[in-house]
Amino acid sequence: MNILEEMTVGGHEQIIAFQNRAAGLRGFLAIHSTALGPAVGGVRLWRYASEEEALTDALRLSRAMTYKAALAELPCGGGKAVIIDDPGLKRAEAFEAYGRVVEGLGGRFFTGPDVGITPADLAAIARATHHVACGSAAGPDHSHEETALGVWHGMRACLEFAGLRRARVAIQGVGSVGLQLARLLKREGMELLVADIEASRARQAAEEVGAETLNPEEVLAAPCDVLAPCALGGVITVETVRRIRARIVCGCANNILATPEAGDELARRGILYAPDYLVNAGGLIAGVEFYLLKRCDSTASLARIYDRMRRVLELAQQRGVSTARIADELAEARLQAAGR
Ligand code: NAD
Repeated sequence: MNILEEMTVGGHEQIIAFQNRAAGLRGFLAIHSTALGPAVGGVRLWRYASEEEALTDALRLSRAMTYKAALAELPCGGGKAVIIDDPGLKRAEAFEAYGRVVEGLGGRFFTGPDVGITPADLAAIARATHHVACGSAAGPDHSHEETALGVWHGMRACLEFAGLRRARVAIQGVGSVGLQLARLLKREGMELLVADIEASRARQAAEEVGAETLNPEEVLAAPCDVLAPCALGGVITVETVRRIRARIVCGCANNILATPEAGDELARRGILYAPDYLVNAGGLIAGVEFYLLKRCDSTASLARIYDRMRRVLELAQQRGVSTARIADELAEARLQAAGR
């Protein structure tokens, strides 16, 4: 990979490669933007097949964080760290060493958990730096709850826009956020369908919220009003759009659209799409407000996801373009204004 070229194309400010031989630590930290404030982003531990795959992930994820924070009107930018999971990794030493890398940035980067990170890993990071979301008994330890609440605020804007009151919602993936979303939707009187590749999870969720279970292969084409992708990214492609029977697509998964063209295809078919990083920002909002802005109650900020979603829907309708492109434009406008 031609790193400087990749950074120039993606607009990244800085990339740090770090290693600690004794701890078996190897990884990358990407700071995409500090135009609006310190870069915020979790650390991910993953079995990457190559260094290039790990670096590509850090570049992609850090950029997405910038957009998510900008659209959420937070005073921070985007970053991300990735650590290559390796049998030789000594977790406690490795995460403490990673904490020293973060500390060396003097507050330019604030980190927290992402995929593969345990509370013990966060405690190890916190031994070396204060710039980590960890260690406060009053802190939002339940980011999945805030994320689910944010998705609900976005979904209710879409339902209103579509003129629907009670809806049939199909949830793909009932893990931590998907299950919490199912609980919220049940409280709101929605009819639920759930699917998970872990059959026992789907069964348990269905029992708890009184939902019907679906085969994971059937969920995209389920007869429903709202499709809520809450598992992995890339599920909506130009091809899969043709199978969707829902009027709304709104879920917590990151990078739901495989390509921008998939968003265009949804718009062309009249399906309302809630941009993923707009509606799944609840955990980030609560975390930034608590740790960086020292605010304990994010209820009102989470509810503003509803207003943002409505604005995006209205602009998309007026201009005849996809909601995904409108969300990108709004985020970019905020970054450009900060740059000036
Ligand atoms: P999780 O691992 O707890 O849950 C994901 C669930 O999806 C699991 O139960 C898994 O078995 C299931 N799944 C995977 N592939 C599936 C498939 N093809 N069909 C059906 N089910 C499938 O993860 P989570 O924390 O709930 O996050 C879910 C998504 O939301 C991820 O994309 C994550 O990046 C995104 N997200 C999470 C947060 C958060 O606060 N946790 C915040 C923003 C975005």
